[in-house]
Amino acid sequence: MRYTENEVMEFVRENEVKFIRLAFCDLFGAQKNISITAEELPRAFAGGISFDASAIEGFLNVDRSDLFLFPEPDTLAVLPWRPGRGRAARLFCEIRHPDGSPFEGDGRYLLKKACARAREMGYLCQIGPECEFYLFELDEKGNPTTLPIDTAGYLDVAPADRGENIRRDICLTLEEMGIVPESFHHEQGPGQNEIDFRYSDALTAADQVVTFKGAVRTMAAQNGMFASFLPKPMLDCAGSGFHINMSLSKDGRNIFQNGGGRHCPEAEGFLAGILARVREITAILNPLTNSYRRFGAFEAPRYITWSHSNRSQLIRIPAVTGEYARLELRSPDPACNPYFAFALLIHAGLDGVGQGLALPAACEHDLYRAGETLLAAYERLPADLGEALDLLEQSELARRVLPADTIAKFLSAKRRAQAANLRAEDPFGLEHRTDFL
Ligand code: GLN
Ligand code: MG
Ligand code: MG
Ligand code: MG
Repeated sequence: MRYTENEVMEFVRENEVKFIRLAFCDLFGAQKNISITAEELPRAFAGGISFDASAIEGFLNVDRSDLFLFPEPDTLAVLPWRPGRGRAARLFCEIRHPDGSPFEGDGRYLLKKACARAREMGYLCQIGPECEFYLFELDEKGNPTTLPIDTAGYLDVAPADRGENIRRDICLTLEEMGIVPESFHHEQGPGQNEIDFRYSDALTAADQVVTFKGAVRTMAAQNGMFASFLPKPMLDCAGSGFHINMSLSKDGRNIFQNGGGRHCPEAEGFLAGILARVREITAILNPLTNSYRRFGAFEAPRYITWSHSNRSQLIRIPAVTGEYARLELRSPDPACNPYFAFALLIHAGLDGVGQGLALPAACEHDLYRAGETLLAAYERLPADLGEALDLLEQSELARRVLPADTIAKFLSAKRRAQAANLRAEDPFGLEHRTDFL
């Protein structure tokens, strides 16, 4: 259901919604919000609600700090976990300068531009994210521990799997918020879970990722647990990935549907474009020091390769046809800002289509068992956050897609965080405790 401004106001009246949360994300994909009362909604639609952008990391400096939130009516969702009396609803916002022009560092704005470029080239890009996360126990003060809630493994059932009730709560909550959960299961690691929801256009998918993480955290807290989206919370167990499934359609036809085992040249160009640029945007796809501990084990990739079915590789073209035909990029992790990630990937893929980039041969080896000589033939993802940040700084693609100021602020915040991690006696603990993205 896509609402207009009038329909939102009608919904608010009829459902006795009292509070509206105006939501947006900072540079790192962490959700922020300001609440207004329902009575203020017409004013918000007409002229926006101001906030101090200098207090949001990576936005503006104090000398020019006013930005305005303009709610987008078609993002309406109620917050099912808030009380029935004084109900709360949420709207994602456009961020604008006082003169009405868009704030260039807003991830939603950047992703809209990427989608517009795809549209101009005749394509619709749809995205289906798969997000894994761990559930940890709380200590007696209610703080997160590093003890997972169970010792179950991949697809296990209760009672070994202690996540079944919370996954059910999360799915019911998502449905009430207009997200369609498709499947959910216990993942490989102890206390590790995955919930997949239906694909949508890229902007809706990014909004849904933000909503999803909020819902998971809230349901975990209500169940006396801590949900962690840290990419590698336990060094000897599976990491948490954020696989990004992407498809492109042209004139209503999904171009990833292969005819007779061959992919169409545009689909190959899109895939080749992502392979060519993935190293330079890895700092965005994998933004934590901890992210780099995940690569190269437990079905997380390390080399820049693709194949049809091998899960040791960066990109997989799953063995499905029809509507669900797609590519699956397996390197991103749940700490990334989904708006920046999707925008950069769409541009990388479209560059490949536009340049008619040739797809390198598929790699049909199990790269976890391959010998040194074979591996030497393949490029690798950056080895650590420092290398990834240096590549981002040099990236022509990033400079074309993200404003210079946004890149500079991202690099300096990340280099500071990395230095703090290197100094910390327990860098894992530092990122574990600050995993609020
Ligand atoms: N957890 C793995 C990762 O880090 C993925 C495993 C899977 O979904 N089969 O990407
Ligand atoms: Mg999955
Ligand atoms: Mg999985
Ligand atoms: Mg997957």
